[in-house]
Amino acid sequence: MSRRRVYIAYVGGTIGMRQSQRGYAPEPGFLAEQLAENPRMRAPELPEFTLHEYAPLLDSSNMGPSDWMRIARDVQVRLEDNGPDAYDAALVIHGTDTMAYTASALSFMLEGLRKPVLITGSQMPLHRIRSDGYDNLITALILLQRFAPRMAEVMVYFGGRLLRGNRSKKIDGEYFAAFDSPNLPRLGTVGIDFDLSWDLIRGPEQAQGPFRVQEIGSASVAAFRLFPGLKASALHAMLAEVQGLVLECYGAGNAPHRDQAFMRALESARDRGVVIVDVPQPIHGCADLALYETGRALLDVGVISGFDLTPEAALAKLLYLLEKDPSPDAVRAQMQTDLRGEMSLPTSLES
Ligand code: ASP
Repeated sequence: MSRRRVYIAYVGGTIGMRQSQRGYAPEPGFLAEQLAENPRMRAPELPEFTLHEYAPLLDSSNMGPSDWMRIARDVQVRLEDNGPDAYDAALVIHGTDTMAYTASALSFMLEGLRKPVLITGSQMPLHRIRSDGYDNLITALILLQRFAPRMAEVMVYFGGRLLRGNRSKKIDGEYFAAFDSPNLPRLGTVGIDFDLSWDLIRGPEQAQGPFRVQEIGSASVAAFRLFPGLKASALHAMLAEVQGLVLECYGAGNAPHRDQAFMRALESARDRGVVIVDVPQPIHGCADLALYETGRALLDVGVISGFDLTPEAALAKLLYLLEKDPSPDAVRAQMQTDLRGEMSLPTSLES
């Protein structure tokens, strides 16, 4: 098999960090230096790759929509070419802390994507003897070498798991299998063999429209996690600042409907055009607002169900939709439409 070409955008993260006086911090040039010294990185099983290091390198806790924009534009430029020297895929090396947000955002922003964009990183820096960095990096590259032409979506590869980006979630701060996709089976599992679920992986034939980047970053959104004892005034103050809110509710999407000030805060925000999306706090599950009285009351004040969206994907999707067409009705309708495999619709709503 001929060697494919992979563009690596090295954005930051623990993988290339070194211990500083103030804890782990990214160090320019350090990752490239280690890769250049390692003969495994020149193995013929790997694709040809070009590593582009971002400046400054970022701990992903410092990242936000402007960084997602930068990655999206960069990836677009590298992947849009289809000539003989074109890149077949992009690999983004990224910190784990906000990887699920970036993966979700890129999945929406990269409209009409027809090639794979894979995101990886590591729990331990590459220079540490027990680092998980080489396994993640090398396996991610081999996945792209072997399967790139059949893949056309934003994915996360981490700790033996291949996941849909907008379904991914950081579920572990300690073990190497740090990510999972609680509401969708994994796209693949990697052990001695590659066990991929081709019925789930989105291929180029599923892409629609021209390949373009939807800019995001000007809309104002927030996430709010309900907790017992919440003062409605705090929620009210937050709702005054935003066009959209991801409301992380209890259980199947339930909330304290007997708290009248709470309900009024939601209702008046709805009347001002704020889009409020209910996602469940349990890691695994789907918001079903019709199930309990405490959920139905939310429907009455205009809250919409985000079904089984992760809070990360719900936030990214809100930012994206508010940018495309800020009219609240349009955003509400699109929020409940599956755009990139990010949500499973209840059977009653499937078209
Ligand atoms: N703080 C790091 C980051 O997100 C954590 C990691 O990469 O694992 O950049």
